[in-house]
Amino acid sequence: MTRILFFNGRVLDPKADALSDQTSVLVDDGVIVHVGIDTIEAAADERIDLGGRTIMPGLIDCHVHVVSSFMDLMKNAIEPTSLTAFRAARIMKAALHRGFTTVRDLGGADIGLVQAVEEGLIEGPRLIICGKGLSATGGHCDTRARTDDRSSIMAHHLGSMGRLVDGVDNCRLAAREELKAGARFIKIMANGGVASPNDPIHVLQYSRDEIGAIVEEAENANTYVSAHVYTDRAIRRAVECGVHSLEHCNLIEAETAAMAAAAGCIAVPTLVAYEGLALEGERFGLGPEAAAKIETVRSGGLRSLAVMRDAGLPMAFGSDLLGPLQKYHSMEFQILARVLSHADIIRSATLVGARLCALEGQIGVIAEGARADLLVVDGDPYADITLLGNDGAHMAAIVRNGAFVKNDLRVA
Ligand code: ZN
Ligand code: ZN
Repeated sequence: MTRILFFNGRVLDPKADALSDQTSVLVDDGVIVHVGIDTIEAAADERIDLGGRTIMPGLIDCHVHVVSSFMDLMKNAIEPTSLTAFRAARIMKAALHRGFTTVRDLGGADIGLVQAVEEGLIEGPRLIICGKGLSATGGHCDTRARTDDRSSIMAHHLGSMGRLVDGVDNCRLAAREELKAGARFIKIMANGGVASPNDPIHVLQYSRDEIGAIVEEAENANTYVSAHVYTDRAIRRAVECGVHSLEHCNLIEAETAAMAAAAGCIAVPTLVAYEGLALEGERFGLGPEAAAKIETVRSGGLRSLAVMRDAGLPMAFGSDLLGPLQKYHSMEFQILARVLSHADIIRSATLVGARLCALEGQIGVIAEGARADLLVVDGDPYADITLLGNDGAHMAAIVRNGAFVKNDLRVA
């Protein structure tokens, strides 16, 4: 029941386009109980003088893979589950120390990792999971070489991002199984991928009937389907089938973006993934087939940001880095800033992310009743978005659920 008063700061409310006049935030037992102007005369166990710094909501990354220790998806999939869990703990801790107090995992993480964070066994962000991504045979999660016909050697290992499921009835069953196992949404692979060996970018994956059945199962459970999609054709079909969360979207065109916006979809561009792959993918074991695919999606990425912004399609912040490339996590802010306004980038990593995590009003805001996931930043991110990058170097304090993860400010 620790009460912490942060005072003498500048509150960042992501709904606005500039810092607010509010200066103090009172936290009680992990919840924000007051946001105000001037030092409030509240009783507090700790009083933190912000020294004029910015206090803002913790960042939300809506596309990560915390079980990805290696670039090679098959290598991840066959690692011992216990070893993958320890490595995931290290990956999650690093993300938290970059200021990401919530991450949405797009394939691999299980309820055990969620509970490990909640029980305080590991230091990590709030974790929103889909369980295993659903992939058709030969699809983006089919990591087998062409001559490898072993069935489903990967599905039960923590390091596997997905499972192979074909046919309407099996898809329904798989969606129900993931929901039973704690999935908060369902992930499907609806288009070719980069890091997978046998599926060109431009192929469609899953039939309309299969996608429709999975969407129905998700909606029955009051949640939604997220789809891995690059091409305009794949995105359009996903929207028509009722998919809500559109991952990547590198090759989207204006008409489809407008259609997706009208349908209430949210896109999750993940441009740093392709920068990372282009910089060091081959060094970390990316195969030649995959390397050849990178440029297609990389070159389309920046254009897609402008297309989606102009269509009014909301975008949530995502990174999608695999294995050792996760060190480039913070670089996504710089890439987005080539096209989007700083205010829009801040909203993507707070308000919009909270919607996809189904935690609107609870995270991504500084408001009474919200969880106390907070960052104290040395400066104004509206003026300099790189303050949110550089691996948390400009964050004097990081608070998750009312507890300090980092505190370079001393108690006043
Ligand atoms: Zn993907
Ligand atoms: Zn991904």
